[in-house]
Amino acid sequence: MQLKTILNSVQKFKSFVYESARFAEAFGQLVLLIEIAARANSKPICSGCGRRRPWYDTLAMRQFEFVPLWGIPVFFLYALRRVACKQCGVKVEAIPWAEGKHTLTNTYMQFLAAWAKRLSWQDVARVFKTSWQKVFHSVEWAVQWGLAHRDVSNIRSIGVDEVLWHRGHHYLTVVYQIDAYCKRLLWVGKDRSVRTLLRFFRTFGKKHSAKLQFICSDMWKPYLKVIAKKASQAIHVLDRFHIVMHMNKAIDEVRAQEARELRAKGVDILKHSRWCLLKRPQNLTDVQQAKLSDLLRYNLKVVRSYLLKENFQFFWNYISPYWAGKFLDSWCRQTMRSRIKPMKKVARMLRSHRDLILNWFRAKKAISSGAMEGLNNKLKLTTRKSYGFRTFKVTEIMLYHTLGDLPEPEYTHRFW
Ligand SMILES: [Zn+2]
Repeated sequence: MQLKTILNSVQKFKSFVYESARFAEAFGQLVLLIEIAARANSKPICSGCGRRRPWYDTLAMRQFEFVPLWGIPVFFLYALRRVACKQCGVKVEAIPWAEGKHTLTNTYMQFLAAWAKRLSWQDVARVFKTSWQKVFHSVEWAVQWGLAHRDVSNIRSIGVDEVLWHRGHHYLTVVYQIDAYCKRLLWVGKDRSVRTLLRFFRTFGKKHSAKLQFICSDMWKPYLKVIAKKASQAIHVLDRFHIVMHMNKAIDEVRAQEARELRAKGVDILKHSRWCLLKRPQNLTDVQQAKLSDLLRYNLKVVRSYLLKENFQFFWNYISPYWAGKFLDSWCRQTMRSRIKPMKKVARMLRSHRDLILNWFRAKKAISSGAMEGLNNKLKLTTRKSYGFRTFKVTEIMLYHTLGDLPEPEYTHRFW
C-alpha cells in the first residue's frame, strides 16, 4: 500500500492532491516529505474573503508539519498561490490544512493539543520530539478555535471567584458556568478589581447577561458591586463553599494565636491540631479523631470557635429561607458574645450579607453547590502544574484548555 493511499483515507482535501512522498534527511534525522499540488484548473480561494479568485502567481515551496508516522516527522510541501482578488487585492490563497503563518498543520496542532490534556506540555514535546513552543502554539490555536466556536447561549448560572496566582502574589478572577447540565470555565482575567469583572461582562455581552438567573460569588466587594450593576435580575448567591472558607480561616487565626500564647506558657496541646479542626468530623483519620476528642476537653478559644463552626453546619439543612434566617441571626448573636475576634468578624460579615446568604435557599435546586468547589480544586491543580510559566497568557491558555470544555473541530479520522 502506498503512503498516498493512507493519506487519502485519513485526510483528503478537496481541490488538492498528494503528489509524491519521499524520504529526506533534515536536522540530522530521517523525515518524510509529501508534496501537495492543487488540482489542475481549480481556482485558489482568497484568504481575505473566502471566495474563489483568479490565480495571480505562485510563492516558494513551504513546509507544513503533519502528524509523525512511526516516529518519523512528516512534512507537507506546497507552494502557495496568490490570488488577484477584486475585493482584497493580491492575497495569498487559503489552504485547508493550515492557517495563516502557522508552520504546523491544523491536524498536527489538534493532535498535540489533545495530548497536552493528558500530559504536561514538556512531556508532550519530549514524546513527540518537538519543542515546548510548538506545543504551546498548538494549544493556543485549539483554545482560540474552541472559544470562537463554543455555545454560550444557554447559560443560566455562573460562579465568580478569585484565585491566587504567580506564586501567590497576584490574583486572577475566574468565571465558571455552574449549571447542573454544564460546568466549565467561561472566562479568566487578571486581578480582582471592579474593572476585571466589568471586562467579563463586556465580553459576555448584554444579551447573555440578561439571561442569567443565578450568580454565585464570594463576599468580595468589587464583585458584589459589579454583579448588582450588570446582572441585577439574577439572584445573587453567596456560596456555601466560600462561607465555610471564611470560617476555616478564622479558626486558623484563632488557633495560631492561641498556640503561640500557650507555647509561651510551656503548654503544647495545640501541636498538630490544624487539620482536625478544619476538616469535617466524618473525614477525620483515627489519629485526628483522638486528637480532637482530647482537645474538646479544654476550654480553649479555638475549641469554642470549632464548636461554633460545626454548629453552623445545621444552617445548610434548612429548606425555608425564613427559618434559615432565624437560625443565622441566633448564630450571629451567640458568636458576637463569644469574645473571639476572628469569629466575631465572620459573624459581622454574615450579618451584613444576610439577604445574599439566604438566597442560597432560593437557588438551592437550580445550581449545583459543589460545582464551584470542584472546578476550583481542578484549577488549583492546573495552576500548580503551570508553576514554571510566568506569563498570564500561558496560564490563561492552559486554564481554558483544561477547564473550558471547549469544542474541537470535526475530523474524519482522529489521530489521537
Ligand atoms: Zn478576497
